[in-house]
Amino acid sequence: MKTECAHGETELLGEQKGERGTNKYFRCLKCGNVLILSEDGVLYEVPGKAPSNVSKN
Ligand SMILES: [Zn+2]
Repeated sequence: MKTECAHGETELLGEQKGERGTNKYFRCLKCGNVLILSEDGVLYEVPGKAPSNVSKN
């Protein structure tokens, strides 16, 4: 079992506009999880790798 991380140190990965507003993507520097903060202030957590859908085209 993993110890829960408080995600105290994060870096901003970027922002992405969605239908309901702008989501902000962060990555925890300690555990590597990706945190997604929605326009509504709801925080989602995605374990592991960063999303690979970052398009630079
Ligand atoms: Zn963390």
